[in-house]
Amino acid sequence: MNRPSITKYKTPVHISEYPVGPCYQAGHLVTENAGWRTEKPILDKEKCTGCFYCYLCCPEGVIFKLDGKIEIDYSFCKGCGICARVCKSEAIVMIREAKDGADGC
Ligand code: SF4
Ligand code: SF4
Repeated sequence: MNRPSITKYKTPVHISEYPVGPCYQAGHLVTENAGWRTEKPILDKEKCTGCFYCYLCCPEGVIFKLDGKIEIDYSFCKGCGICARVCKSEAIVMIREAKDGADGC
């Protein structure tokens, strides 16, 4: 699976440390997105038929197959909920993000 690389972000202190433009180089993230996501998808592996339709519809490309089972890379999932909407088996539900990691994901 191709994943974007993460660039360590250092908060600028002096004007000379600010980037010259508003954009980062393509394929780089300054942080993983779990810090601002408000909802996350939870997969019920018993209900999942492995049709892989959620993979086709995920705009972030963070759904993948591991040992024949669907997995979600939570480090880069944006929590948009599209996967839950398109799953005909209702195998994915969206839950509120736990900021303390209490949900174990
Ligand atoms: S769309 Fe639903 S049933 Fe199909 S692979 Fe994804 S979670 Fe499983
Ligand atoms: S919530 Fe959105 S970004 Fe996350 S796995 Fe589902 S479709 Fe992909």
